[in-house]
Amino acid sequence: MTQQHLPTVAYFSMEFGLESSFKIYAGGLGILAGDYIKGARDEGAPIIGIGIKWKQGYTDQHIDPDGKPYDTYHNYMYEFLEDTGIQVSVTIRNIDVHCKVWRTEKFGNNPLYLLDTDIPQNSDSWITGQLYGWFGEERIAQEIVLGIGGVRALRALQIPVDVYHFNEGHAALAATELIREKMNGGRSFEEAWQATRDEVVFTTHTPIREGNESHPLERLEYMSAFNNLTREQMERIGGNPFNMTVAGLRLSRISNGVAKLHGITANKMWQDVSGRSAIISITNAIHTPTWVDPRITEAYESNGDLWAAHMEIKRELIRFIEERSGIALNADHLLIGFSRRAAPYKRSDLIFSKPELIAPYLESGKIQIVFSGKAHPLDDTGKRIVSNLVAMMKKYPGSVVFLENYDMTIGAGLTRGSDIWLNNPRRPLEASGTSGMKAAMNGVLNCSILDGWWPEACLDGENGWQFGDGFETDNTEALDRHDGEALYETLLQRVLPTYYENRPKWVEMMRRSIETTREPFATKRMIEEYYNKMYIKA
Ligand SMILES: *Cc1c(COP(=O)(O)O)cnc(C)c1O
Repeated sequence: MTQQHLPTVAYFSMEFGLESSFKIYAGGLGILAGDYIKGARDEGAPIIGIGIKWKQGYTDQHIDPDGKPYDTYHNYMYEFLEDTGIQVSVTIRNIDVHCKVWRTEKFGNNPLYLLDTDIPQNSDSWITGQLYGWFGEERIAQEIVLGIGGVRALRALQIPVDVYHFNEGHAALAATELIREKMNGGRSFEEAWQATRDEVVFTTHTPIREGNESHPLERLEYMSAFNNLTREQMERIGGNPFNMTVAGLRLSRISNGVAKLHGITANKMWQDVSGRSAIISITNAIHTPTWVDPRITEAYESNGDLWAAHMEIKRELIRFIEERSGIALNADHLLIGFSRRAAPYKRSDLIFSKPELIAPYLESGKIQIVFSGKAHPLDDTGKRIVSNLVAMMKKYPGSVVFLENYDMTIGAGLTRGSDIWLNNPRRPLEASGTSGMKAAMNGVLNCSILDGWWPEACLDGENGWQFGDGFETDNTEALDRHDGEALYETLLQRVLPTYYENRPKWVEMMRRSIETTREPFATKRMIEEYYNKMYIKA
């Protein structure tokens, strides 16, 4: 990529995970966005981020004495944010809402511009209060700020943009502004839509239908989200109810899913949408300087003692777990890491599905498992999943740990210091998953269902393990039974003997894990692919 010819890209995202204490992220979508603008900086790629400065961010979720998760929110202040002096306004419920624009490059990232409604001129300063805290009207208000406010901020900052990249459907309303601008310049709606499509690209993330947000047109109209378009024009873009993913697909010149398998899934999912852009696949990646421990890189590149480096990092993780939970794990026993959002399809309790099989190993401590993950604050099912994991911690004291309030610190610790990274979603519902990439590059061996990114990387028994053989069925019970058996078989017959009886093989697998993932799943490859397949016009 030669820099002076590269198109300038504005990358819109509801969340950015740049650093643990900068609480403008919730999960994987934000981690990807944060890694993206750091990777862009490393590559000298002209990509800037557009997001929101959340006052409270996502929930801080702790566990009460009964083992139930509860949510708390705190106001955060970030001294390091630069005031651009720019302010733009958007219309929400027929009222002008002012958005202050902040800027930061503090985390080795390309410039990130953040919109903020928490200023004295606004009667409602809470629009940018909580990330994913509310549904319905408040979410639309946030999307008006990100999308429409984001485009206006770019104009006020006088930043010329060639490509508008919507990371997930949250930013789709930005296109109403791009269309409106062109219609103000005298073009018809048709021409303006076509010209807008020409400069927008879209990434879809969720293979779960309900996860693809939609709103009744009445509500969008009431919120002033039409932005001077007519009801009929809005309906042509997103349908009624107005689906943000459908809108993204119809407002872009090209779209993508975030792994090869996810691209196939997304094509099936959206095959009936007329007038949509083609969906290709660009597999996610991670910013290696953020996630890979330098001691591992050193040992790998110098052909040094990978195992010694791993043990040092594992002991640090064990100390960290003890500080957080009071539980002291054994560094000489297998340590399994499992951290992800508490959602049913991720099946965090699959490993407990046959207690008679797993209990002896947990009781002897030969298998130790550390869990972490938040439930969405309004998701009671997710909260029951967390409570169940906390109950397992009490049932198997000293072998099962649940770390509350999952964040980037916990994510980094577990993906550096565990021995095994376990992932067992219901295929094909995991879009990509990046935590497994973090693990793989740290020599933490993936033991995973063939979902998300893993089919692209897995050399079974050589750089990690697969289980389940890619089996799929709509019968959830049958799927869980099948995958549960496959998990036990792989863990007990293949992983454990290698760990306890064949250390040289294990260390060779660690080496292969690093070797086979460090380039294909690093941001450099991903950003080049976005340029070659999406940003640069064919
Ligand atoms: C890496 C990371 C994620 C994304 O991981 P998945 O594999 O998608 O679960 C989410 N949250 C945190 C805090 C992370 O560090």
